[in-house]
Amino acid sequence: MSLPSLTLTPKGAARLRKGHPWIYRSDVAAPPAARGGDFVSVRLPDGRSGGVCTFSDQGQLAARLTPLSVDASDFEAAFLSLVDLAVARRAGRPAACRLVNGDADGLPGLIVDRYGPALSVQCLTQATDRRRAALVARLRSLTGARVVVARDDVKVRAFEGLPLEKSVFVADAEGAIDPADVLVEMHGLRLRYDLLSGQKTGGFLDQTDNRVAAAAFLHGEALDCFSYDGGFSLHLAAAGCRVTAVDSSGPALARLAQRAADNGLDITLAEENVFDLLRAYERDGRRFDAIVLDPPAFAKSRDAVEAGRRAYKEINLRGLKLLRPGGRLVTCSCSAHMDRAGFETMLAEAAADARRFVRVVERRSAAPDHPTLVTAPETDYLKVLFAEAH
Ligand code: SAH
Repeated sequence: MSLPSLTLTPKGAARLRKGHPWIYRSDVAAPPAARGGDFVSVRLPDGRSGGVCTFSDQGQLAARLTPLSVDASDFEAAFLSLVDLAVARRAGRPAACRLVNGDADGLPGLIVDRYGPALSVQCLTQATDRRRAALVARLRSLTGARVVVARDDVKVRAFEGLPLEKSVFVADAEGAIDPADVLVEMHGLRLRYDLLSGQKTGGFLDQTDNRVAAAAFLHGEALDCFSYDGGFSLHLAAAGCRVTAVDSSGPALARLAQRAADNGLDITLAEENVFDLLRAYERDGRRFDAIVLDPPAFAKSRDAVEAGRRAYKEINLRGLKLLRPGGRLVTCSCSAHMDRAGFETMLAEAAADARRFVRVVERRSAAPDHPTLVTAPETDYLKVLFAEAH
């Protein structure tokens, strides 16, 4: 079967040659005779093939490159078999983990997270939206998942002309698993997730391994800033730290309290703005042995990079000032628009202003079930530094 072809402009061809998987509509010289969501073959201006893409008829991104061969006999089957490969790559990952990470797994527009017996799925393009039932059937046969939640409440879907919604796509036949309260046991902890109203797909699984590593690195009196439902706090408390968790969201802290109780852990909660609380602690002479800074993305767009950099510097500067000599910092940025070098420069400036001698002992990223594409550096969004301050 031959696919409809989409011809690129010379600029689009140059971009594709560099390996970036996204084709902007402005880089299309001749659109394909195709419906949104179809597979199309990309044609370079010299007539050669540039690979197989999924096509969208709305939004800035006209097509996204897949690893499929133009010679495939059945594109639908070949696309589904990429799901098998993605799931196989997660062998050995904990009970809550990412099973499919979009472009980096060759499945543009598909995010799948597993929470024990449940899956939380995001179909972000016309191509994955249209194939949701087949994708979910394949995922269920591979994982035995009993519940599937569709977390399609993501803004990028609007660019594709798709509605924003969340729903229970597959309910548990026995009615035993409540998607709003899924229990997962991992790392010696009982972790409940609300797949319907939790952030992202229900939680932040990209930090999974960093939480375990942080619990080994940090000791003593710890302050977990931007705690959300306590991913870091619970691991630290289980490892023996005395933890104060700070978040401005009451519901997030209520959930943290529930999760602490589930594990018989004692965690002090502070429903505060981190910026204000760090300032107040400094004024009051409160000091800590360990601080975690895991804020939301402060630089959400290219235009917001400078303001974001200032916000990161502010919390890092104040955090460093609160550390006792030899105290340890775990500092994170999930802003795709701030690269690793920029993040370290920010920490250097914070260290200089705080007049602290700061030694970086480990540089980390998202868990290995969140692979990044080397040709799309912005997919390497999560930067985590483990540091010690004298
Ligand atoms: N550390 C968490 C994830 C943090 S998500 C984990 O390991 O899962 C970011 C959190 O920051 C959200 O819970 C949000 O409520 C909180 N937040 C955002 N701005 C804040 C502020 N200025 N002060 C306190 N909390 C804030």
